[in-house]
Amino acid sequence: MDTSRLILIMAIIIWLILYAIRDSINLKTYGGIFGILRTKFGLKTIEKLGRYKIWQKIGIISIPICVILGFIMLFNIITMSLKLLSGTLPKEAAKPVVFLFGDVIPWIPGVIALLIAISVHELAHGIFARSFGIKVKSSGILLLLGLPLGAFVELGDEFKNAEKKIRGAIASAGPLANLLIFLIAIPLLSFSYTLPTELKIIDVKEPASEFLQKGDIIYEINGKKINSLEDFNEFAKTIEPNKEYEIKVLRDNKLLSYKIVSSNEGRIGVMISPDKNTALLINTIYWTYWSNFLLALFNLLPAIPLDGFHVWNAFPELLKERKNKFIVKIGEILELIINERTLSSITLLVWWILLGSIVYSMW
Ligand SMILES: [Zn+2]
Repeated sequence: MDTSRLILIMAIIIWLILYAIRDSINLKTYGGIFGILRTKFGLKTIEKLGRYKIWQKIGIISIPICVILGFIMLFNIITMSLKLLSGTLPKEAAKPVVFLFGDVIPWIPGVIALLIAISVHELAHGIFARSFGIKVKSSGILLLLGLPLGAFVELGDEFKNAEKKIRGAIASAGPLANLLIFLIAIPLLSFSYTLPTELKIIDVKEPASEFLQKGDIIYEINGKKINSLEDFNEFAKTIEPNKEYEIKVLRDNKLLSYKIVSSNEGRIGVMISPDKNTALLINTIYWTYWSNFLLALFNLLPAIPLDGFHVWNAFPELLKERKNKFIVKIGEILELIINERTLSSITLLVWWILLGSIVYSMW
């Protein structure tokens, strides 16, 4: 049985157990398949890290940055939906990421990456809120059949009554934390490519198929030992058309050497994969990189209940507080365009576009 089915079955078993004891663990269920589990998990960390006032400054500074990113995202989904309607973008492009799981995104790395992204995001909201003196009531997990769908922190009522600026700073914390993880993942990803690993051939095409087989392990190319994905990629970049390459492979513990001439297009025709653990690590880092990037940008869309709503709502006020009269004026004008009323219209627009694109893509 493949791992994705195994995980699904395990998740359902876990769900049935959780469902049976739902009253004693304070699990609220909806429609029998969704659940909200309120926990005290992570609250100690939030309490400890939230003591520092530096988060307040970072939160305020990040508001304009987040507004710009959110604007780019809004612009993107609008142009994407127009392209989708006009047919210049394939329907596939609008399929939500959830449907790509198991097919494009491998299950285990995908779920780990999503968990990292969501936990960091919510933890950051909690820490920033605490730094502004706002109580964090609980942390929780949203479950779908035992699979964690998302996480949240439940803030005290002080949040609703807080200044726009403070709400904006707390809201920007989540996406900001995701962007940070995204930036950390970039060098980690290139590092993971240099890790020593066995490189197995998983597919062969012309011209290599005449000599090499699936399951062969790449040992040496043109006298250079191939120890990592990086080594192989370095070689792949230098392949020229119609040139002879000496490739040594391990087959049944025997070292075999072949001279292979590349195709007219400069191709050798081998597809390789690192060993299981390395592949898992690389995939996890790769999807951590993507999920954090996407989660940050998606949440910055100016729509209720996303973080972008509070971030955008705070922006004009932030400008109005400046000393420079010109900036104050811009803030006043901006407030006519961006306020709670216009943002609720934008909210409708955003969700219509998103839902519309998904429905259209499946039609
Ligand atoms: Zn958030």
